[in-house]
Amino acid sequence: MMNAGLGVYEMGSPLIALEKIVVQEVARALGYPASADGMLTSGGSLGNLTALLAARQTRAGYDIWQEGSLQTAPLAVMVSEESHYCVERAIRILGWGDKGLIKVPVDAAFRMRADQLEAKFQEARDQGIRVLAVVANACSTATGSYDPIAEMADFCEKYNLWLHVDGAHGAAVAFSSQYRPLVTGIERADSVVLDFHKMLLTPALSTALIFKQGNLSYQTFAQQASYLWADDQQAEWYNLGKRTFECTKVAMGLRTYVLLKAYGPALWEQYIDRCYDLGQVFAQILRESPDFTLLLNPMANIVCFRYTPQGWQDSGLSALNHQIRQHLLESGDFYIVQTQIQGAIYLRVTLLNPFTKTEDLLALLTKIRTIHQKYHS
Ligand SMILES: *Cc1c(COP(=O)(O)O)cnc(C)c1O
Repeated sequence: MMNAGLGVYEMGSPLIALEKIVVQEVARALGYPASADGMLTSGGSLGNLTALLAARQTRAGYDIWQEGSLQTAPLAVMVSEESHYCVERAIRILGWGDKGLIKVPVDAAFRMRADQLEAKFQEARDQGIRVLAVVANACSTATGSYDPIAEMADFCEKYNLWLHVDGAHGAAVAFSSQYRPLVTGIERADSVVLDFHKMLLTPALSTALIFKQGNLSYQTFAQQASYLWADDQQAEWYNLGKRTFECTKVAMGLRTYVLLKAYGPALWEQYIDRCYDLGQVFAQILRESPDFTLLLNPMANIVCFRYTPQGWQDSGLSALNHQIRQHLLESGDFYIVQTQIQGAIYLRVTLLNPFTKTEDLLALLTKIRTIHQKYHS
């Protein structure tokens, strides 16, 4: 409760034990073997960078931590066009620049086209670029699309590539028997990032980074800090700073542990089912409303749509929806965001509050119509 630092065991031993319990709970839900292990870290962005550091050290073919990456073939990671910006940022931090990020196209539902991986991989090879990892979205931020993890795992196994799942938002469905099929194959990924503060009801911020082979989590930071650890070479799970970017870290495991202890994982299952079901309900309402257009059938609790009243040309709809959102925010009744999909502005709703009801969703559409009448007619 004193929020002691968690870099070394002697500073925060009880909290480190709670963190271990939380990590094990997630590893079990993902379907990982007993050898899985990981830790909590400060956000999905840092978690993705940390996972890619482990991927680099494990798959580069030499000790890149010691020798540096300057004298080798350029290294790269394959990601979906729809990946979160932090993945690109991580790759640029690794120093791999433009060539380090190979974008794989998506299908009409904004899922990575796994059938394109082979061609992109060979293209990179022909240019002397060495691909060592693939990142799957589970799900993508803009549209809530889940990449086909099982197909991607097949490809990664063929070429011995590291498969990382960016499940910051949506890997939480591993806790739901109804929605678990969205992440079929996640148990084959080498690493998974999952934010408790996105879909697991935990106050920000708290992220799990789990490795299928727990021992590989020690590859990330191979460097020595002998004033902290008596033995630099040992894999000591309880000295968390050996595997996290952070030295001092907030006692983030406590928040999640309290939820687990008080309610168990069934709470998360109910919450996910409630929010994801609501996404389906909202999509159905939009399909039945002739003055609205649904972008795609939602896979998650993220719904993208546009107001498309009769008599409006396509060219004016982005500006219209942008203005409507602005008025909506100013009215203070609703908070929704907008997103650009292939150059067009859509309204975007993430259904996170389990107390949101169908009437609230209907009221949102009514409000949009009212705003339109007030400002545009
Ligand atoms: C939110 C999100 C992130 C970033 O996570 P933070 O915890 O905000 O750093 C990364 N990837 C995806 C897919 C996300 O939804």
